[in-house]
Amino acid sequence: MRVNTLKRAAVAFALALPAAAVATVVAAPAAHADGCYTWKRNLYQGRSGDDVRQLQTRVAGWAGNRDIVEIDGRFGPKTAAAVKRFQAAYGLRVDGIAGPETYAKLYNLQDDDCTPRHFTFSEMDNGCGIGGWTGGPLSAAQTKQNALRTMWKLEAMRHSLGDEPLRVSSGFRSRTCNSQVGGASDSQHLYGNAADIVAGNSSLCQIARDARNRGFSGIYGPGYPDHGDHVHVDSRRENNRDNTPNTTSWSAPNCGVGTGD
Ligand code: ZN
Repeated sequence: MRVNTLKRAAVAFALALPAAAVATVVAAPAAHADGCYTWKRNLYQGRSGDDVRQLQTRVAGWAGNRDIVEIDGRFGPKTAAAVKRFQAAYGLRVDGIAGPETYAKLYNLQDDDCTPRHFTFSEMDNGCGIGGWTGGPLSAAQTKQNALRTMWKLEAMRHSLGDEPLRVSSGFRSRTCNSQVGGASDSQHLYGNAADIVAGNSSLCQIARDARNRGFSGIYGPGYPDHGDHVHVDSRRENNRDNTPNTTSWSAPNCGVGTGD
């Protein structure tokens, strides 16, 4: 009797262990320790928090035509649509829910400093060779955050255009740098909110046209004065300041890209 009871207990214990281990793995989607950021729960419509904000920053380039994903920490229909487009673009199951599979792809795409793998803070901060994130109207931290969002949109563009390299010729500019290069006095470059892209394998017009689907509300390219050798993209709609209208401004006439297109 005693022996049998012990045996049964041992068998029960042995069975219980793997079951418990499996249950733990299933319940915790974010076992991966990422150098930048690790999500700890699934995210879907209705959820809110800083983890949503982190997700929104990374899928903002999948906003869809003429649209933007606001980085507001609230997972609404636009965030869900962007997550779906991200999932489709990378061959994942398309359900609009950010879970283990989506996070694994994001971990794979991001470097330890949170930049997407094909873009770096240093190329966004060529500031006329001055370096650093100061000398603009915003704090260095906010400026850098804007540059990060810009890079994730560019990562989406790069993937959308067939994974061909895109080169940034100008990103953040301090006021000093901006006046040196003759930038507009209220240029989005001052806010870390803009990038000038030069053509690689993709033509300037391919870049200008694709930018309309990447959450870029400012696009200037071929046919717009002084934009024959690069495409300027920016996120002016997200730049919430009283003196900037919440607007879209697109002009690359040689590519058939205008604000009404
Ligand atoms: Zn520019």
